[in-house]
Amino acid sequence: MIPATRTVEERDVARCAELLGILFAQEQEFDPDAEAQSRALSMIIRNPEMGRIFVVEIDGVIEGMVMLLFTVSTVLGRKAALLEDMVVAPAWRNKGLGTLLINHAVDFARSEGFGRITLLTDRNNEAAQQFYRAQGFAQSEMVVFRKLLEDGTALNKCESNTWMCRECGYLYDPAEGDPESWIKEGTPFVELSCQWSCPVCFASKAEFDPFS
Ligand code: FE
Repeated sequence: MIPATRTVEERDVARCAELLGILFAQEQEFDPDAEAQSRALSMIIRNPEMGRIFVVEIDGVIEGMVMLLFTVSTVLGRKAALLEDMVVAPAWRNKGLGTLLINHAVDFARSEGFGRITLLTDRNNEAAQQFYRAQGFAQSEMVVFRKLLEDGTALNKCESNTWMCRECGYLYDPAEGDPESWIKEGTPFVELSCQWSCPVCFASKAEFDPFS
């Protein structure tokens, strides 16, 4: 029954996507999309320079998660992080798991030389705001603006060079091709036959998503 925090692993993606579904269902601005969440989680796990995801486990079951996404603060002249996707399973709320996760993330950021952590929370979620204040976060006077790049996303889908396997995170890079399957360097993903499959986990071509 003792909660344990650790860094997320590829095998945790489905459970974390489930927790994000709970979070986004309660947030005003976002709707859950398990496939999108799994894709993003795999992207971070496979590219640790992007950020780090931490989970808290009880009896081997993940009951909460939080992530730090890495950026740079020119004000501080140091690395900075965005704290995102903090969620605890409903049955385990108000039992200290959130504090454990935040402390774990803050300790990590401190030990890695980060100078600041920024987070966003719903304007009307007073409980969350109180929680973050209690964790030593001060409310900023800055206002959040967003621009959704829907057209850009669609364009990327067609022009994307590198594609990622949704099952295992393998990246198909046309610059390398897939020598094991006799796919020459310079072969675009779209030109691969439908019979082609992931060289790591053998997932079908349809299981790949544009990556960059
Ligand atoms: Fe794969």
